Amino acid sequence: MNQTGSGKVPHRLVLCTGNPGKQAELRALLPRSVHLLSLADVRLPSDLPETGSTLEANALQKARYAFERCGLPCVADDTGLEVEALGGAPGVYSARYAGEARDPALNMTKLLRALNGVADRRARFRTVLAFVDAHGEWIFEGEVQGTITSAARGSGGFGYDPIFMPEGSTLTFAEMGKAEKNAISHRGHAVARLVDFLERYFG
Ligand code: IMP
Repeated sequence: MNQTGSGKVPHRLVLCTGNPGKQAELRALLPRSVHLLSLADVRLPSDLPETGSTLEANALQKARYAFERCGLPCVADDTGLEVEALGGAPGVYSARYAGEARDPALNMTKLLRALNGVADRRARFRTVLAFVDAHGEWIFEGEVQGTITSAARGSGGFGYDPIFMPEGSTLTFAEMGKAEKNAISHRGHAVARLVDFLERYFG
């Protein structure tokens, strides 16, 4: 018997992210028949190059980079927070919105300042997942609409979670439990599409 409990050998999949928050979310969402490996497990650095100008380009770049070096199926994600009143910014630059330090607190402060006095607070998170293996490349997308709050609330999650309130909720992502966020989040939707694919692909 192995970790799937089914007697089947689990399929190995390299998760190309160094972000522990994302790793935890993806681990919780992927089926147990998939044996997830980290970048460290395949001796790759945690910060893979991402120099593209779109989420799609970055996700593919990271998954390709890892696949070319380890030869195992690889999945990479790139996420952006797109704010309506800012013309879709920070978007693909969300991680470095307030500078190269990629500091979530500074990013949120900068965004709250940019929206100071702005009535239209609509925003959406968009996640693109890229899956690359010897047979090809596939892209899966997920998004969630919501609004930017006027101040940070909650201590869960990561990144911009304390200032993002998904549509239909009175809580920010940081005020929700993990399962509650995963059920409606951009990443949750993208991963559901990936899982659907993997179940058919891996069989
Ligand atoms: P990246 O996909 O790691 O490049 O993420 C881009 C930026 O969005 C980073 O600042 C992340 O912290 C943030 N981010 C990604 N996913 C989430 C999320 O689920 N909630 C809040 N912030 C996120």
